[in-house]
Amino acid sequence: MPLRLSTVRCALVALAGLYTLPAAAQTALDARIDQAVERIAPGIVELRHRLHQDPELSNREVKTAELVAAHLRPLGLIVKTGIAKTGVTALLKGGKPGPLIAVRADMDALPVTEQTDLPFKSTKRDSFQGQEVGVAHACGHDIHTSVQLGVVSVLAGLRDEIPGSILFIFQPAEEGPPAGERGGADLMLEEGVFSAGAGKPVAIFALHSFPELQVGQVGYNPGPTMAAVDQFVAKVRGKQAHGAYPHLSVDPVVIAAQAILALQTIRSRNLSPFEPSVVTVGIVRGGERFNIIPEEVHLEGTVRTYDEGVRAEVERRMREILDGVTRAAGGTFDLEYKKNAPATVNDPALTEKVRPLLERAAGAGNVKLVEPSMGGEDFAYFANEVPGFFFRLGIVKPGTTSGGLHTPTFRADDSAVPAGIRTMSRLLVDFLLSSNLNPSR
Ligand SMILES: [Zn+2]
Ligand SMILES: [Zn+2]
Repeated sequence: MPLRLSTVRCALVALAGLYTLPAAAQTALDARIDQAVERIAPGIVELRHRLHQDPELSNREVKTAELVAAHLRPLGLIVKTGIAKTGVTALLKGGKPGPLIAVRADMDALPVTEQTDLPFKSTKRDSFQGQEVGVAHACGHDIHTSVQLGVVSVLAGLRDEIPGSILFIFQPAEEGPPAGERGGADLMLEEGVFSAGAGKPVAIFALHSFPELQVGQVGYNPGPTMAAVDQFVAKVRGKQAHGAYPHLSVDPVVIAAQAILALQTIRSRNLSPFEPSVVTVGIVRGGERFNIIPEEVHLEGTVRTYDEGVRAEVERRMREILDGVTRAAGGTFDLEYKKNAPATVNDPALTEKVRPLLERAAGAGNVKLVEPSMGGEDFAYFANEVPGFFFRLGIVKPGTTSGGLHTPTFRADDSAVPAGIRTMSRLLVDFLLSSNLNPSR
């Protein structure tokens, strides 16, 4: 999840449609969940420290996956390993009949050199794209993995009371596989994570660390919540000449400059102002010497959208603009447009159903309505297969601060671990209970 949100607004407490659960039974289950969280929290926090100190890059989560599987096996679940390289799943079958749901945690770390004061901070270095880099859990995936291991421990202890089954997915390469490799959620789906065993879940859930919320708070928004993440490389070609004789050249620097400005008109002139989108040129590279007009300029960037129609329109307009601008100047171009994860959309009906459950799980005052983000998240692949709900977990201890996601000073507090375990455990159990009470909704 590469970008952070800028603003958080208080949620409207919408109690209409709140599910009525048998109060006494529910309270007893809540108490058992809370006791279990308290009992296992110190061990899970210690496990989080181990993950944090030994972060592994995308598609390299070998020791992380071993640690995950070692935690899962004694709990009596059906555990599978080696899915999409290092992915792990565990199926918990409840003691009562009910639907199958799924929940995902991501396991990979980032090429970021950690600069926090955490006593268990990462000092690890590894090779990434041919360079030696620091490696850190700067996106909080150590929190997600440890929270989910805690949820498994808690719910395995309540198995007899659970009306349905839960598929726990531990996913590699959420940040994207290394160049030339495949990996992540789409490969897990391709390898049958939803088709084997218990069948397709009726819903899938995930949480993500969010440095703009305090521990104990959670955030969400209905509809698109994370953007589609596309990547493009454009090569603008002209004709090389001496810098003093521009009339003998076709200048790709001038063409590229015009193209960069014209690309910004896609957002401002071609699309509805009500349709969110971003076109960013992040790399402009060309030329070797001050007095030589080069042959070629390389442009590289990203496109972020929420809607598939808008996504297609941006690509189409990019081609038209590059074609028009280069031809007008007598140059040529190549455009390589790569579609990565689609937009992550919180299913409207599922969100409506989950909102009161989340308010019950975290406390109504702790549930914040947050703005959607133009960052990306490959949970989208799962949420395109079955209704999905993705929410943000507060990770900042009151009185402290954290840098943004993907930065060296990103700092998730240990207390987010029990808070996350409690919220997700209650949410999953309540969802299964409410599904059984209200099967038609
Ligand atoms: Zn990330
Ligand atoms: Zn992330």
